[in-house]
Amino acid sequence: MKFCSQCGHTVIQRIPEGDSRLRYVCEQCQTIHYQNPNIVAGSLPTWGRQVLLCRRAIEPRLGYWTLPAGFMENGETMEQAARRETVEEACANLKDLQLYMLVDVPHISQVHVFYRAELASLDFAAGPESLEVRLFDEADIPWSELAFMTVHKTLECFFADRKLEVYPVRTDALPPSRPI
Ligand code: ZN
Repeated sequence: MKFCSQCGHTVIQRIPEGDSRLRYVCEQCQTIHYQNPNIVAGSLPTWGRQVLLCRRAIEPRLGYWTLPAGFMENGETMEQAARRETVEEACANLKDLQLYMLVDVPHISQVHVFYRAELASLDFAAGPESLEVRLFDEADIPWSELAFMTVHKTLECFFADRKLEVYPVRTDALPPSRPI
């Protein structure tokens, strides 16, 4: 950050009084610009024994497969964000969303959250951010072509839990050296 979003003045970095971290502070209007982690909300849509994946039409990881997910917007709930991202990327509506996976990604200040959900129908298609959307059996999951480690972990947990048909909420964290 270089300029204050309130007044346009140059910002500096300093530790505000009563704080313990470096913040961007505007010397003109005294606004403290806090920067905090972002939440990525997504879904793990199923149809019977199959899982829906999207092949990314955008960077990063263009051409790789992912679960529908994206940054939460202001004013929406996490579940609404997961639903919205699924509509945007896969033109698909979900029902019975269940919180399932939370992966901390501290080195890029993100938290990735996935809901299990059933597709409301087979009415789905590639949205503008996807090249292709399709259903996969477990045996056909393109493990080496998955876009993100958080998606990899979520699918791994899901297929392990599905053997017992019990789906506790799972948590995990990526170590600093790992890609997302
Ligand atoms: Zn300012």
